Amino acid sequence: MIRILANDGIDPIGKSLLEEAGFVVDTETVPQDKLIEALQNYDGLTVRSATKVRKDVIDACPNLKLIGRGGVGMDNIDVEYAREKGIAVVNTPAASSLSVAELVFAHLFTGVRFLQDANRKMPLDGNTQFNSLKKAYAKGIELKGKTLGVIGFGRIGRETAKVALRLGMNVLAYDLFPHTGSLTLDFAGGVSVDIPVATVSLEEVIRNSDFITLHTPFAERPILAAAEFDQMKPGVGIVNCSRGGIINEQDLIDALDSGKVSFAGLDVYDNEPTPLAALLQHPKISLTPHIGAATNEAQERIGVELASLIIEHFNK
Ligand code: NAD
Repeated sequence: MIRILANDGIDPIGKSLLEEAGFVVDTETVPQDKLIEALQNYDGLTVRSATKVRKDVIDACPNLKLIGRGGVGMDNIDVEYAREKGIAVVNTPAASSLSVAELVFAHLFTGVRFLQDANRKMPLDGNTQFNSLKKAYAKGIELKGKTLGVIGFGRIGRETAKVALRLGMNVLAYDLFPHTGSLTLDFAGGVSVDIPVATVSLEEVIRNSDFITLHTPFAERPILAAAEFDQMKPGVGIVNCSRGGIINEQDLIDALDSGKVSFAGLDVYDNEPTPLAALLQHPKISLTPHIGAATNEAQERIGVELASLIIEHFNK
């Protein structure tokens, strides 16, 4: 009987698929300091981002044959080391792309209509200062017809570009690896349309975009810092639903304070889980606590994909 510990949980559909295939699945979370002891009784471990699977765990758990990451980033797993030790490491990179892309637009729609500030002020002043708040938020703008700069044109960058194109936005994309091709936009009723999109230079994205969204992996030095903010259009909006560390946070605050950047939407931070207070309190920043993949649909797709990867591995 193959036993799997889903230490950061797994969608019920994924769990049922594994159980139907004859696996035993435990979903009770074992704290990190008890993980080695618990894993002596399991053949496979699935994690999201909370559980860390470092060398010490890998060395001390000779029964472990597979580590599954529900999601994209595998920063919490010593992937190469595990593979050297003969442990399979699998993830579900595409399952959450649309959910992250939609969160980008939640931040964009929030920023262009000042919702991050209105949602803070209405509960306090909505019944005494209604007209002055109405005036404060009077200069909203529409997204249609504006240009979205997408830095990092992989799975999520492309999904984000597709949402933008469906909204009638223009897209300027940059990737380390230039790309020429088209994106297929699917509409209700089975209609689909191919739109050609080619990547341009980073400078072009930075100079010509009304909004810029980042979709790269973690980088050693920030992709956006003071020099890049200086080159942007006045009033640009910035969204980061990718990884902390790829925007210089202090430079972003300075650019928001000077008015160069009109708003930012952040899902990820340098210092998770204790982001900089100046970001959390900034009236021009729409904030979410790293929830890009946290939709029912994405978690279901992740669970199903993870279950099939596990079944495939153990039935080989
Ligand atoms: P991906 O690998 O499909 O795409 C990343 C793209 O970035 C690649 O095309 C790569 O060539 C490009 N790239 C790398 N470095 C670059 C650089 N310096 N400049 C420009 N392009 C660069 O990855 P993905 O699935 O699209 O994920 C993108 C990011 O989103 C990852 O960092 C991932 O961890 C993050 N993510 C966040 C959440 C969330 O909850 N907010 C959820 C899922 C993924």
